[in-house]
Amino acid sequence: MNELRQIGVLDHGYVRLVEFMGSDLSVVRSARVSYNAEWRAGEDQGSDIRLINYLMKNKHTSPFEAVSMTFEVKAPIFVFRQWHRHRTFSYNEISARYSQLPDEFYLPEPTEVGIQSTDNKQVRTLRTDWTSEEAKDELRRSEEVVDLLRDTNRAAFETYKQLLKRGVPRELARTVLPVATYSKMFATVNLHNLFRFLKLRLHPHAQVEIRRYAEALLQLAMRVAPHSVTAFINTELATYGYDQKYTQG
Ligand SMILES: Cc1cc2nc3c(=O)[nH]c(=O)nc-3n(C[C@H](O)[C@H](O)[C@H](O)COP(=O)(O)OP(=O)(O)OC[C@H]3O[C@@H](n4cnc5c(N)ncnc54)[C@H](O)[C@@H]3O)c2cc1C
Repeated sequence: MNELRQIGVLDHGYVRLVEFMGSDLSVVRSARVSYNAEWRAGEDQGSDIRLINYLMKNKHTSPFEAVSMTFEVKAPIFVFRQWHRHRTFSYNEISARYSQLPDEFYLPEPTEVGIQSTDNKQVRTLRTDWTSEEAKDELRRSEEVVDLLRDTNRAAFETYKQLLKRGVPRELARTVLPVATYSKMFATVNLHNLFRFLKLRLHPHAQVEIRRYAEALLQLAMRVAPHSVTAFINTELATYGYDQKYTQG
């Protein structure tokens, strides 16, 4: 496997592949056991890749469960709120009842503040071209927004530290911390369920921040089972055009 194991995400976060079990060969082997021919896995790479593509296209999903991965994730709490809705991961998260949380919170880049979308209630519209006068004005406003976010988060952390200094129990002191606060978790998932997560969280309707984490997971999974992940990109992500990100280089 290629050595890339950890990918930085947002301003202080990351995703790290802690360990994994299986590979494309495990998928092929699991599929071929159906017709008692698992011993053929790995003998003919062309036929293995064709089988993986067939499985993906025909939603014969269980062979993809033969691969599993454990990730260490550092992300803002609001990202975890969305992530934890995916019940097929197994999670363990740092507890702010046991220890004091470090003074770390997420601030978006000014270019990623954007404006509220007018055609979709849940998303924001982000510019890609910053050359016009209107865009420069928006950038100035976004820089002010980031300053405001920084001041507000800092003030919350100051209160948190004051409360701890006064002997307030950690489990209560933490209640003033914002959802931008970074937290850490271990998350274990099999490849099939990772694909379900990625299909939802790489979609343009998913929040930009969790999309960044989904992109990192996709890259790490690519190192574990490249043919399965490529089949997923070409079949499932192609339904909303995400595959073009890859084909356009
Ligand atoms: C863009 C976007 C916007 C969203 N907005 C909101 C929102 O505004 N409010 C909100 O509350 N949520 C929101 N969600 C979360 C969403 O409703 C799902 O909870 C989340 O995407 C997890 O999907 P899931 O249940 O398919 O995943 P998983 O929990 O991983 O489950 C995968 C599949 O397993 C099966 N499954 C797992 N557990 C059970 C169970 N206990 N019972 C039955 N079947 C089960 C289901 O078939 C499910 O589809 C949003 C999600 C996205 C992607």
